[in-house]
Amino acid sequence: MRRCSFIYRLDHKSVKHMKIFLFSKVLFGVVLIGLLVGCSQATSNASSEPIAGCDGQIYIDPAKSPYVLPFPPGETFKTGLTNCSSSYHGAGQPDQYAFDFDMPVGTPFTAVRAGTVYKVVEDQPSNGGGTGAGNYVVIDHGDGTYGLYYHSPKDGIEVEVGDEVEQGDVLGISGRSGLAGYPHLHFIVVQGNPTYPYDGLAISFSNAIPADVVLKGRTEYEAAAP
Ligand SMILES: [Zn+2]
Repeated sequence: MRRCSFIYRLDHKSVKHMKIFLFSKVLFGVVLIGLLVGCSQATSNASSEPIAGCDGQIYIDPAKSPYVLPFPPGETFKTGLTNCSSSYHGAGQPDQYAFDFDMPVGTPFTAVRAGTVYKVVEDQPSNGGGTGAGNYVVIDHGDGTYGLYYHSPKDGIEVEVGDEVEQGDVLGISGRSGLAGYPHLHFIVVQGNPTYPYDGLAISFSNAIPADVVLKGRTEYEAAAP
């Protein structure tokens, strides 16, 4: 009887130790999972943090952006100046949130978002010497924002004022009219009156590969299928 109770006490003690051991294991696991979840949330929230180069500007998550790149899926173009870089794209300039895409003269460019054609200018000389924007098209997105596409050749816009366009529709061909030292598409979304000097909007693109929150300068980006 006494022997049995001794054995029982031993077993009871070891079970108790085992319980403490298991509890500490579970606690460690919970803490580890908590840390991992916390880290992944910090990563996915990175896009809402201020971006260096544009003075604390907050950009929307590319996955939630209503804008696609201004060229067809599968195509790749290199950026020139982008947000808060230099020249007309410098911080504080009306075009601080504009993007330049290096495109050979005659490359079709497409609507980043659906809307109505608000303005078309296509009577400027093809190779510079006219107004700053040269030949261009403005799309009214219907929510107080407008997309502006600059530097097409003379007669290089393929839509008319009042036309309804879908996201991805060809709007015209790129060129180097106006203040363009080389052939490229200058693109910006503005809030309110789309007349220079306008208020630019900081945007990201939903289909850029790589999926950078702000497109870097002098970097190749491919347009993924929406
Ligand atoms: Zn530009």
